[in-house]
Amino acid sequence: MGDMAKFKALVVEKTSDKQFVREIRERSVDDLPPGDLVIRVHYSSLNYKDALSATGHPGVTRQFPHTPGIDAAGEVVSCESGAFAPGDKVIVTGYDLGMETDGGWGQYVRIPSEWAVRLPEGVTLREAMALGTAGFTAALSVLKLERAGVRPADGDILVTGATGGVGSIAVSILAAAGYRVTAATGKEFDEDFLKGLGATAVIGRDDVTAGAEKALLAERWAGAVDVVGGQTLAAVLKSTKYGGTVTCCGLVGSPELPVNVYPFILRGVSLLGIDSVQCPRGLREEVWQRLATDWKPVQLGEMATECTLAGLEVMTQAILHGGITGRVVVNLL
Ligand code: NDP
Repeated sequence: MGDMAKFKALVVEKTSDKQFVREIRERSVDDLPPGDLVIRVHYSSLNYKDALSATGHPGVTRQFPHTPGIDAAGEVVSCESGAFAPGDKVIVTGYDLGMETDGGWGQYVRIPSEWAVRLPEGVTLREAMALGTAGFTAALSVLKLERAGVRPADGDILVTGATGGVGSIAVSILAAAGYRVTAATGKEFDEDFLKGLGATAVIGRDDVTAGAEKALLAERWAGAVDVVGGQTLAAVLKSTKYGGTVTCCGLVGSPELPVNVYPFILRGVSLLGIDSVQCPRGLREEVWQRLATDWKPVQLGEMATECTLAGLEVMTQAILHGGITGRVVVNLL
């Protein structure tokens, strides 16, 4: 396997006292999990889920040592099934990558070729990772709102966790698609960032949940993209207008949903689940195609901070504490 036999990867190890330590190690392609597709990873990214994996959260990863990274973009080295040719540029997001399968925080991955999609024209490998699972999930959420019949003329769309990865790209896509977007954030100082992405209004997290204990709240939103869950999602549902649609993809606030049935049975509100991990291939390609064309955020370059494997320690802690604005791209070149 020539000079690719050895490569650098971030490895998470469980120590004897059940702590988790992270270090950059030399690994061998031969030690990677089985699969018909070997990719030289150029870029990966940091998602909230990666931080959970890197710190030993059993809901994401149970087998250690482990290399996280639920996103990878790079060039095909070899493909036994013939689905791709050497040199093809591909994106991998979701499935088991970075969960129990060694992921994109290493210079090579070996995976089933069904997990990869061809890099669409219009985006670079780096841009694909500036989008990553977060961008994919944001776009899937907007696609589902669109398909549910939510139109710009219907009123304001709320995005929660708006400065985060999914939230910031959702704001940008919705604004580009002509919607009026209200961005809800816990970071007051990021108002300019959110307005720059196209938000028409920026509100605090508390504004969303005010009065959440009531059975229903005043109708405010034609639709919403929620990443927070918990009381936030409950309050969003209670303040969604008649016939509106809310997407649910995240749990940064809480995995619980303390809501009653009134938004559904009195206002016909719909709650749509968003899953990027097992998303079927046809839909996956459609979402990437939109991200490469009409939904490609014009501010993508400014939304992404770049770091190396060595920089991930600080970034991992930051994302766990809701401290990242925009996206983090990991450079593995
Ligand atoms: P980020 O950490 O980048 O963004 C989350 C944002 O939520 C933060 O930046 C912050 O934004 C806000 N936030 C953080 N903590 C809290 C809190 N306690 N209460 C309210 N708001 C909070 O994460 P991602 O955007 O990568 O992911 C967001 C969520 O979506 C995660 O739960 C993730 O697991 C999930 N996800 C699900 C996917 C799926 O397929 N279903 C795919 C991708 C992500 P602000 O300060 O602006 O409020």
